[in-house]
Amino acid sequence: MIEILNPTDLPRARQAGALVADILQALKSRSAVGTNLLDIDKWAESMIVEAGALSCYVDYAPSFGRGPFGHYICTSVNDAVLHGLPHDYALADGDLVSLDLAVSLGGVVADSAISFIVGDSEPPESVAMISATERALRAGIAAAGPGARVGDISHAIGSVLSEAGYAINTEFGGHGVGSTMHQDPHISNTGRPGRGYKLRPGLLLALEPWVMADTAELVTDEDGWTLRSATGCRTAHSEHTIAITGDGAEILTLPKQA
Ligand code: MG
Ligand code: MG
Repeated sequence: MIEILNPTDLPRARQAGALVADILQALKSRSAVGTNLLDIDKWAESMIVEAGALSCYVDYAPSFGRGPFGHYICTSVNDAVLHGLPHDYALADGDLVSLDLAVSLGGVVADSAISFIVGDSEPPESVAMISATERALRAGIAAAGPGARVGDISHAIGSVLSEAGYAINTEFGGHGVGSTMHQDPHISNTGRPGRGYKLRPGLLLALEPWVMADTAELVTDEDGWTLRSATGCRTAHSEHTIAITGDGAEILTLPKQA
């Protein structure tokens, strides 16, 4: 299903996006050496509840997971990259953390993910990986607009990731959002320009480039949710929800002080 937002609903989409961005930035600033992933989950829960929003994750039970998810945020650390199930783990200096959050506010979903390094050390490989996903995300957003096609976004994202030297996994990528979290069209992180669904104003899309340092193969944790790199290498993930407008794309989940 593909939903097209009524222009009068765009303010609600902006509110949902701003909330997700605010929560992610607050969680990032509170994440330090010694912070437990379960604390991050609790903080996310309280901020979601306080805002009157609904978690898209707590009751989420897709065919691939051992659902329902039962938590409010995905916390993926180091070799974990997607769907990281919060668990009893205290962050260490140099850990590469990805936080992925989707909530529904006013009937509209916003979905965003950030990756960052905990503490004072800055492992070069981790810095490079985070940078590549952020650059790929910007390239994908720049390629989005009315009349562009999904393949244009995929190609833009994939070009940046490939040039940075990463192999691209095509099992999980971006997606449409709207009244629910995962809608069509699927947006692969690699593709051919000029192909696929043609974008039009009112379409909300979550673009989410992610990479693993030396592999494109995933393995699933024993928790049934957390997806890790098959080689144990580090990983990174960046995601924004955007709205296709009359003349381009508006980022709905941009942090206030980006
Ligand atoms: Mg997400
Ligand atoms: Mg998403």
